[in-house]
Amino acid sequence: MPPHNLIIRGKQVVLPDSITPASIHVSDGIITSIASYDDVPADCGLIDVNEDSIVMPGLVDSHVHINEPGRTDWEGFATATRAAAAGGITTLVDMPLNSIPPTTTVGGLKEKLTSANGHCFVDVGFWGGVVPGNTDDLAPLLAAGVVGFKCFLIHSGVDEFPNVTEEDLRGAMPELTKLGAVLIVHAEVPGPISRTGIPACPSTAATAKENGVRPISPDRNVCPTRYATFLASRPRAAENEAVALMIKLSRKFGTRVHIVHHSSADALPMLREAKAAGMNVTAETCPHYLTFAAEEIPDGATEFKCCPPIRESENRELLWSALESGTIDMVVSDHSPCPPGMKLRETGDFLAAWGGISSLQLRLPIAWTEARRRGFSIKDLARWLCSAPSSLVGLARRKGVIETGHDADFVIWNPEKQFRVEPNALHHRHKLTPYHDRILQGVVEKTFLRGRKIYDAGEFLGEPHGILLTQTAGGNQAR
Ligand SMILES: [Zn+2]
Repeated sequence: MPPHNLIIRGKQVVLPDSITPASIHVSDGIITSIASYDDVPADCGLIDVNEDSIVMPGLVDSHVHINEPGRTDWEGFATATRAAAAGGITTLVDMPLNSIPPTTTVGGLKEKLTSANGHCFVDVGFWGGVVPGNTDDLAPLLAAGVVGFKCFLIHSGVDEFPNVTEEDLRGAMPELTKLGAVLIVHAEVPGPISRTGIPACPSTAATAKENGVRPISPDRNVCPTRYATFLASRPRAAENEAVALMIKLSRKFGTRVHIVHHSSADALPMLREAKAAGMNVTAETCPHYLTFAAEEIPDGATEFKCCPPIRESENRELLWSALESGTIDMVVSDHSPCPPGMKLRETGDFLAAWGGISSLQLRLPIAWTEARRRGFSIKDLARWLCSAPSSLVGLARRKGVIETGHDADFVIWNPEKQFRVEPNALHHRHKLTPYHDRILQGVVEKTFLRGRKIYDAGEFLGEPHGILLTQTAGGNQAR
């Protein structure tokens, strides 16, 4: 059990409205009060935080692909949640695909819960999936505790999680509205992508197929090792049309819609207008879209491949402006690993390589490194990394903010310290990452989950005691 009475105090505690000296009183894993710095009774366990360090809510990451069961060799609950703890993330929400079975039925969810149970170092919630023909599964899945539902508008990369069409959504969205559930959307449509005429290299498509990746047709007229080829193959128009479609359908059916891993700056005016019109539409972007630029990605460097793609530096700066204005609400990892062989680093074939970037553990320092450079504050960071994703998954009254009655989840980190990204310091199952050797600003020192210290300067403490958030009051309704 966590210490019955505990006080964590620091000179820079990130509260909802300020960063201030405070003592956080904790009992049985819950914040019981936030008091002045000196308000420390003698009989309490006291953790005095170094004055240079920040006490922030434990991060919430609403976009993580864990892939267990079925593709645990890609990533699993034990490895992903250790990486999360080391990165100051105390709650993550697992995506409904890449595991086998996917989380598109209650049976699929149960298999996932069985796999996760007892192996999680942080608290874990689950997204369900909307696929063609599973409208009748949505209510039971929500009752079983998923936090909401994800769909793809284009091939997901794995055959057992097929994408939906507009027609499918016209069937599913009224049900989602009735249930009050959020629909999160991989917003690329196939039309503009197929119109580019850029297929994948045949030499590696077979390898990809063996690994369960969709096969792609051959063409000799493109150079698959050039990043520019890959970028051209996933044009902004695919995202722009998808966002327009989702806004149209959300308006028609009243469904709460959230755009995942948004990359195209061209679609931002549509999102801004939808929000200004009072629609319940939100969007996220990811550390890689905010850090890298297409023109700097070396040819053959398939560790940079993700879908939608990392675009030009001008696009990146517009994403930052959208975060500033609130058009984009949050920054989540989209941690999407695979065995290194599937990244095809030896051939450098961008078109056939698996698309996905591993960065779960690094989300805080990546976001801080880039945010600070642009003049943003730690308060902004706490909104993008903690409170906004917590709200998205229905946990706003429990996670993502340091407030009385909330779980005592904290990350203690030093915003001034730097480190070089060394693959062997990453706890993800696979270490291939585009951040290799990058100097990042912001070092996670300690992580607390419900009042218990679970990570301290490279050490994991105790057995995994993360809870599965369906086991509480049901993910979406939990406290
Ligand atoms: Zn994803």
